[in-house]
Amino acid sequence: MAIPVLIDSHCHLNYDYAPKTAEDLVREAALFGVKTLVTIGVDIPSIKQVQTLSDRFPEIYHTIGVHPHEASTLTASDWDILRTAVKHPKCRGIGEVGLDYHYDHSPRETQKDRLREQLAFAAEAGLPVIIHSREAEEDLLEILRDYVRAVPAGRIPGVIHCFTGTLAFGEACLDLGFYISFSGLITFKNSESIREAARRFPLERLLVETDAPYLAPVPFRGKRCEPSMVVETARRLAEVRGMPFAELAQATTDNARRFFSIPLEPIQA
Ligand SMILES: [Zn+2]
Repeated sequence: MAIPVLIDSHCHLNYDYAPKTAEDLVREAALFGVKTLVTIGVDIPSIKQVQTLSDRFPEIYHTIGVHPHEASTLTASDWDILRTAVKHPKCRGIGEVGLDYHYDHSPRETQKDRLREQLAFAAEAGLPVIIHSREAEEDLLEILRDYVRAVPAGRIPGVIHCFTGTLAFGEACLDLGFYISFSGLITFKNSESIREAARRFPLERLLVETDAPYLAPVPFRGKRCEPSMVVETARRLAEVRGMPFAELAQATTDNARRFFSIPLEPIQA
């Protein structure tokens, strides 16, 4: 029997995985059925890097955006770069963007302003957003509610990546049309609240991701995370939902294809 196909919907392949190369990561992922990888931009310098990866590998797509940690680095002159970059044929989303009140690397007002601007940009570009959320649920929901009004009916507004939120927050995001993505955190011993959310949320809105090189799932916890490891996250998600792994894989892969407009056959940009 063929192994189920998975999509790692969120990883950072432009980081250093030495001694492994991007070729190694893509090849090893494919051995585990992980046939498509979406590498996520976090700032202006990473745009070129994710584009290069997309150009080199048919299996890789990318997103562009400025992370809340870097919000204060996004200047008016960067917008020309973003407007050009969004036209790349394998750019499939805006992100990661969001609010992070845990680290507060950028002032909160700046984070909110840069988030609103990037959401408006996504709505205009017709691309979904990848949302990073940490200890900012109330402010984030208020901003997302405004944003979805600008998204035409029938279009997917975005995904809450690496879900760690409250059940109420997740349900509010689902009501707004958002997808929810689960990372390796779902395999951690003390993550019962994440598993509870994973049990309840509708299957047709779920994605799986590694967030590599961060958050390696059990049994790799503490090691560097790599895209092939998304299998462990998907397995645990299937177990939590009491369904066969193959079915869960098929559903999340269909969801990711729909979300990122990924064709069945790999394309070369
Ligand atoms: Zn990330």
